[in-house]
Amino acid sequence: MTGSERRDAASAEDRDVLDDVQSANRPEREPVPVTFGRRGFLRGATIGGLGIAATGALGYAFGASSASSASSASSATTAGAAGRATHQWAMVIDLRSCNGCKLCTTACQAAHFLHEDQTWIDVFTMRDASGKHYSMPRPCMMCEDPPCVPVCPVQANVRTADGLTLVDQSRCIGTRICMNACPYQARYFNWSKPRPAPRQPFPQEPAWPVPQVEGTVGKCITCAAMLPAGKLPECVSRCPMGVLYLGDLATDVAVNGIGTTVKLSEFLADNDAVTFKESYGTHPRVFYIPGSGQALDTDAEAG
Ligand code: SF4
Ligand code: SF4
Repeated sequence: MTGSERRDAASAEDRDVLDDVQSANRPEREPVPVTFGRRGFLRGATIGGLGIAATGALGYAFGASSASSASSASSATTAGAAGRATHQWAMVIDLRSCNGCKLCTTACQAAHFLHEDQTWIDVFTMRDASGKHYSMPRPCMMCEDPPCVPVCPVQANVRTADGLTLVDQSRCIGTRICMNACPYQARYFNWSKPRPAPRQPFPQEPAWPVPQVEGTVGKCITCAAMLPAGKLPECVSRCPMGVLYLGDLATDVAVNGIGTTVKLSEFLADNDAVTFKESYGTHPRVFYIPGSGQALDTDAEAG
């Protein structure tokens, strides 16, 4: 059943509520001012309170994960029930190297059979305080305090124990209230039928929502189903400039698609990493390394 069908099946009273919610959503959201902030814990021996030293290359960290066919969501839930998850996923985006080619965007779309206007990772052209332009990839920030999660009236958003926020499209009824709650414009609505997708390597579930479901909300998943198999997200592995890193706060390691492995906490501290719109209190798990001359801790405009 599509999101639209589920909505049609709702009671008249429920549909009135949904209409109110949907009419409150803006059809087109204006670009919002960009604010970077520093995470106070970045410099020092601990990250996110975990304080676990790097144990080697990220391949080792992946290797410690569960069975390759298990979804990230389900394995995370299991790990979470037993205690702390094995991994705490994060991303680092090194703006110094991004040339704005958008191969990350198109590689992601190809892998997940998305329409052209469905961008799980977008690349914005930004302008810093001095007027200089730079390119800024924007995936889901995988916020530690995600405003998109509590607003859903049917609990269709899932926060996994290993730090990912995913959409359960089998539950989503398409209110789109989560789209309005996300300050990063990371979500979109599936207005049309999805692109046909051949048999997929993973079951269709929150960790691999392929193909997308008409009438539901979609967004970046950090390629959650691929991570237990030791594979990097598509955008990370396909970036020819090595801009994007998958990081693990639990093992304090990050790796990009051109073979660079770093100690995550040192990499962030040494390069004055910042998070996007930290003032919103969302605590993003995506860290940006500024570059190209833009000023830090200042507002910038979309260019
Ligand atoms: S593929 Fe890499 S260089 Fe190209 S836009 Fe994406 S992050 Fe930037
Ligand atoms: S970036 Fe938006 S969609 Fe992603 S977790 Fe944060 S609030 Fe939710």
